[in-house]
Amino acid sequence: MQIRFDARSVNEGLARMMVAAFMTELNPTIEELADVKTAVSEAVTNAIIHAYQKETEQVELICDRKDEELTIQIVDHGIGMENVEQAMEPFYTTKPELERSGMGFAFMEAFMDQVKVESEPEKGTRVTMKK
Ligand code: ATP
Ligand code: MG
Repeated sequence: MQIRFDARSVNEGLARMMVAAFMTELNPTIEELADVKTAVSEAVTNAIIHAYQKETEQVELICDRKDEELTIQIVDHGIGMENVEQAMEPFYTTKPELERSGMGFAFMEAFMDQVKVESEPEKGTRVTMKK
């Protein structure tokens, strides 16, 4: 499944629903479903609030399954990150004024089995998560 949507906060709910629909076939437990939806929310929210200035920019959600393994990618073509390692540290945030706590990546890592972040300044960011 590949979907593309506007970088608007209302679309975080859309992304959660789409991923849940994709997962039905995998017969997930309620907990697995909640974990994946939370991780997707965090990554999509990041693309919406950090990557872009304009709501008309696009965020992409790609879901794949191979046997029992689910792979999810959230892609933006926004500002990107200079230092991914630093950005992934718990409590690191560049938007403290928006009352961000800097825990998004920590949640993704806690709720998914594997999280990989590829980013380039001015090019964008790809978050790949497996469960
Ligand atoms: P929280 O998720 O707790 O609300 P946060 O979004 O600041 O706060 P993280 O999700 O852990 O925390 O992200 C850490 C930092 O990484 C962000 O403050 C931002 O600087 C950077 N970042 C994350 N995702 C992106 C992205 N898609 N594009 C550009 N920068 C990003
Ligand atoms: Mg975040």
